[in-house]
Amino acid sequence: MKFSEEIKRRRTFGIISHPDAGKTTLTEKLLLFGGAIQEAGAVKSNKIKKGATSDFMEIERQRGISVATSVLAFEYQGVKINILDTPGHKDFAEDTFRTLTAVDSVIVVIDVAKGVEEQTEKLVSVCRMRNIPMIVFINKLDREGKDAFELLDEVEQKLGLKVTPLSFPIGMGYDFKGIYNIWEKNINLFSGDSRKNIEETIEVSDLSSPELNTLIGDTAADTLREEIELVEGIYPSFDKELYQKGDLQPVFFGSALNNFGVRELLDCFISIAPTPRAKESDTRVVQPDEKDFTGFVFKIHANMDPKHRDRLAFIKIVSGTFERNVPYLHTRHNKKLKFSSPNAFFAEKKEIVDISYPGDIVGLHDTGNFKIGDTLTTGEQLNYKGIPSFSPEHFRYINNADPLKSKQLAKGIDQLMDEGVAQLFTLELNGRKVIGTVGALQYEVIQYRLEHEYGAKCTYENLNVHKACWIYVEDENNDEFKDFKRVKSKFLAKDKQGQLVFLADSSFSLQMTQQKYPSITFHFTSEF
Ligand code: GDP
Repeated sequence: MKFSEEIKRRRTFGIISHPDAGKTTLTEKLLLFGGAIQEAGAVKSNKIKKGATSDFMEIERQRGISVATSVLAFEYQGVKINILDTPGHKDFAEDTFRTLTAVDSVIVVIDVAKGVEEQTEKLVSVCRMRNIPMIVFINKLDREGKDAFELLDEVEQKLGLKVTPLSFPIGMGYDFKGIYNIWEKNINLFSGDSRKNIEETIEVSDLSSPELNTLIGDTAADTLREEIELVEGIYPSFDKELYQKGDLQPVFFGSALNNFGVRELLDCFISIAPTPRAKESDTRVVQPDEKDFTGFVFKIHANMDPKHRDRLAFIKIVSGTFERNVPYLHTRHNKKLKFSSPNAFFAEKKEIVDISYPGDIVGLHDTGNFKIGDTLTTGEQLNYKGIPSFSPEHFRYINNADPLKSKQLAKGIDQLMDEGVAQLFTLELNGRKVIGTVGALQYEVIQYRLEHEYGAKCTYENLNVHKACWIYVEDENNDEFKDFKRVKSKFLAKDKQGQLVFLADSSFSLQMTQQKYPSITFHFTSEF
């Protein structure tokens, strides 16, 4: 196949949702359609139920599984689909934000009864900022939930989206009869049989036909006719270009558990979802069909084998082809590296591949060369942008609990930070190390991993910090900045890149500081 055709047949996307909306179930059903798995239950959810450490330890034990589900690839009707896993648990939100830099589109899953939930709002707002095309799937229609119009309203208002339904439910919960597919103009009747692979669809090109009454009954037929008329009156008709620009979001209804409405979603997805997109770097915009390979690291997964400290760096290919045993430039180190066993991912396994195309993800074995955000190219010196750090929510001092293992501790901290588990700040005043995280759970994860993977022990000590702000000042020699550094020396630290950070102890003191030093700007993300 020609290079350009390989690009055209790729769709790389992520499924995002609040925990329990049905992301894992939907993923599994998509894989079933692709023939990538044979039975339900093959995809293990790697989510953390109640934020308990025991759950994390369990995940650690099943690490092989969670690596395998980091990227799920399958073929469907000649299209190569790459699904990137996004943790739903809020303590791992940064992981998800970073993964979103590697997707070309997303599917948002919403629970029909719960509507738009907190995590959905956060994740969608990140997608909106990046103009990522989104399709909304409203799930669990076999259960009693909110009225369809009410939900569409909620999606528009809470998520700030402009929606257009491409399917519409006929009844709900106990009365759920099926779905009218606006996109394909047919009806799909619900049988409640989750074992069915393909549901039967009945062509209904004309809703006014009496056939509809025979199919679903007089009352339901009349209601559907009214509702579809309303839909056509209220919502804009679907426009692929607007969708791909992130300005219009099609909505589907269904039940992932019952494998209902999923085929419609998938069929529409492969025909409208964007092929690998161009990406901005610090020097220029790179097009996927350029001959030379470029790509970037969006995720690092460590220590599959506890005896070796090896890690797997996940690279999204932006342009060109990535080939085995060819030296590529690691632009941050300005050093060429080649890889003898790049992994490609399939539904249940990973395999060594010789060649990968834009949109694909390859996993590279790494002994510590990579950190999140690193760029690889054929030779051009460029860096992909857009993987910022956000201000952590929690801050604690980290102390060495075993003086004989200080080297191991330093190395462990260093590598865990490169993986993006948390952020490290070093205080200017005394060199003490502070770990900042999104959720409290990460502290236990770090402690556990330092001990089990690096043989180091640590303790934590509370530190009162409200927010970390990255500091920018135009002229570092101005008196105001000098005064700021002197007065606030206790609160200044460097992040791992050596950028200056102000650790504000309260929102009030941050406000006061901002007022007192107007020439300094305080940013809540590391990239500005
Ligand atoms: P995730 O946290 O978003 O990955 O959610 P899961 O896929 O693990 O689903 C959460 C729960 O909802 C599980 O118990 C599923 O069996 C259930 N579920 C998923 N889809 C449906 C559906 O369409 N109908 C019903 N009734 N339950 C569903």
